Amino acid sequence: MQRQLIAALAAIALLTTPASAQQTTIRAGTLLDGKGATLRNQVITLDGPRIARIAPSTGPVTYDLQRLTILPGLIDTHVHIVSHFGADGRLASPNDPPAERALHDAETAYTLLMAGFTTVQSIGAPADLALRAAIARGQLPGPRLLTSSAPLNDATLTPDQIRAYVRKTAADGADVIKIFASKSIREGGGQTLSDAQIFAACDEARAQGKRIWVHAHAASAVRASALAGCTAITHGFQITDAEARLMAERGTYFEPQTGLLLQNYIENKPRFFGIGNYNEAGFKFMEDSIPLTLAMFKMALKHPGLKIIMGTDGGAGAHGQNAREIVYRVREGGQPAMAAIIAATSLNASALGLSDRIGTLAPNMEADLIALDGDPLTDITALQRVVFVMKAGKLYKNLAPTR
Ligand SMILES: [Zn+2]
Repeated sequence: MQRQLIAALAAIALLTTPASAQQTTIRAGTLLDGKGATLRNQVITLDGPRIARIAPSTGPVTYDLQRLTILPGLIDTHVHIVSHFGADGRLASPNDPPAERALHDAETAYTLLMAGFTTVQSIGAPADLALRAAIARGQLPGPRLLTSSAPLNDATLTPDQIRAYVRKTAADGADVIKIFASKSIREGGGQTLSDAQIFAACDEARAQGKRIWVHAHAASAVRASALAGCTAITHGFQITDAEARLMAERGTYFEPQTGLLLQNYIENKPRFFGIGNYNEAGFKFMEDSIPLTLAMFKMALKHPGLKIIMGTDGGAGAHGQNAREIVYRVREGGQPAMAAIIAATSLNASALGLSDRIGTLAPNMEADLIALDGDPLTDITALQRVVFVMKAGKLYKNLAPTR
């Protein structure tokens, strides 16, 4: 009698939840959709690599994350994936054995994914192209990878030569173009490319259908890049209200670094010291820049139309700590936690041209999602406690506490 009842109930369950055997379901106690909404007690139903629906539901699920906060996989719009410490513990040389470098690249990709970053943009090196292909083959665990391949850092090129560089880099398979329009902050950050050279790069990128990331510290270089219609300006450590206003008006994405980049160099000083511009003067520039960049960030936050994205510029030593930038923005910079999370999810997705696929939890989006042990709206450091990582519906990490 009881067996018949169970069989009948099972039949009803099958009728009311069709194809439940094939579908993965995830219960979220708290769900942040990446665009500013907070939902409670939702079940996410997957259809292969995508989200089929999100709705309140009771009953059994594949993954019960009732006690956790689920949000879209984090995005970092600026990492240096090939940058790592070599066998001697110091910043690795591009002349190290290729096999060693390739394995470090794979390790870094894994580290980023485990930290909850399901998409990163590498700004960038030619070796990223092979890594991007390896991750896309589906066996090597790593974030969805976009890359600039080789950046342009030669102020002697004519505007026509710069256009040729952009076309070649696009043809090589780069997702984005990267140019240096100013010196490094370790050399003072002054403008290097002329306004005409910056225009040539950004105009040609647009003609090739590519986005373009401009390294610029000096206010003049930021102004020229915004006026040239470049997609995003990274750093901008020396901008004033005028450049923040201009970027807001022009719709230029602004990617400042406040809480990880310079701190990581200083924490790992012996590993960098003596290489290139990592000298005493360079470290002095970096130490002095930490309070200045925080003040600049607070100023930038006062421009409501300014699209401030989350790119750490993280290289050797910083990989996997990327959420520190978000934590610092909230704790030291005073950015509301929700705004900081939107920056690292849906706003970053739009800066990558991927807002129709990632950065938001909604039907038809890729199932890139993470779960945190804690509520980042009340404790932003929960972003550093990623216990569950799924990319395109495939589970990569599940340390969720079981009841
Ligand atoms: Zn960089």
